[in-house]
Amino acid sequence: ERKDVDEDYFGSYSSFGIHREMLSDKVRMNAYRDALLNNRSLLNGAVVLDVGCGTGILSLFAAQAGASKVVSVEASKKMATVATQIAKDNGSEVITVVHSMVEDIEKNLQIEPKSFDILVSEWMGYCLLYESMLSSVLYARDRYLKPGGAILPDTATIFGAGFGKGGTSMPFWEDVYGFNMSSIGKELVQDAARIPIVDTIDPRDIITDSVVLHSFDLMTMQQDDMDFTSTIELHLKPSQTMDHISWCHGLVLWFDTDFTARFCKENPTVLSTSPFGPKTHWAQTILTFREPIAMCSENGRSVISSLSKEIGTEECPVARVRIRVSIARASHRSIVVSLEATGL
Ligand code: SAH
Repeated sequence: ERKDVDEDYFGSYSSFGIHREMLSDKVRMNAYRDALLNNRSLLNGAVVLDVGCGTGILSLFAAQAGASKVVSVEASKKMATVATQIAKDNGSEVITVVHSMVEDIEKNLQIEPKSFDILVSEWMGYCLLYESMLSSVLYARDRYLKPGGAILPDTATIFGAGFGKGGTSMPFWEDVYGFNMSSIGKELVQDAARIPIVDTIDPRDIITDSVVLHSFDLMTMQQDDMDFTSTIELHLKPSQTMDHISWCHGLVLWFDTDFTARFCKENPTVLSTSPFGPKTHWAQTILTFREPIAMCSENGRSVISSLSKEIGTEECPVARVRIRVSIARASHRSIVVSLEATGL
């Protein structure tokens, strides 16, 4: 069964369209380029393992930055062939492309255990962990990284924030050339409550502060750490005024991966997929509540509770929401995200 999944997965990576999308993502590209090219003391003379090299772009940056040897592992046969040609076309003699799953490279004579100074990989999926190739990176770390070696990027953090009605598809369906089509909107919201949606969210629709859901240290984390439960408390942003209720319709998730000063001493950088920054091909992950939660700022509470009756809720609105999110691996390459929200 695993074989089928992998064939679909690596088959999807052999379509050049996906690589074009990744190579066109400036936020992604600039972060990796800056980390590799602007930390010369780290890269100079280093022996580098590129896990899942695709077109070989990260290997090319590493070679350009002065790596003495780069081993570029790629599971898709088509991409491995292409990466070999590209390395040759760019005169990068230090690059060796190996067509294999990184888990299976043992037999390859060019690869000795614990012999790499740097492990570089772009393994991140939607919501960080979807298609979680991270387990392959951790495997490679344990088997091939020298003691004291570096991982690029070396940390990853998942963030969350609450969004208002504008973050759902309701406003569109409520007024279509003056006609009310909100029955469609309601159905879509119920669907969205079951399945997370990958889409960009307008930062103006975010009504709470942004909080850390979970952080990973790629140097020390273990496979099991990918399954976690996190309880976060969200507070209305001060800009949400006291004189009206803000409805929190769901939670938006995004991630950063950092090339911290631990290894990138000269030039630490961050790859951020935040809705407050420029768009990336990861967009954000949107989780909708079945029912929105009424929120108001703390001291506006008494004024608001009578108002809330008028608009049909018996509940006193809250200034804070507590959300329990759990992310776990559902199968080889998928995750399940679940959330429970309560007003406080
Ligand atoms: N490094 C490239 C490609 C990133 S996409 C870039 O930054 O543009 C991830 C790549 O890793 C895909 O090409 C996929 O086929 C490959 N890959 C995923 N899991 C792998 C594994 N376990 N071993 C080897 N390659 C893998």
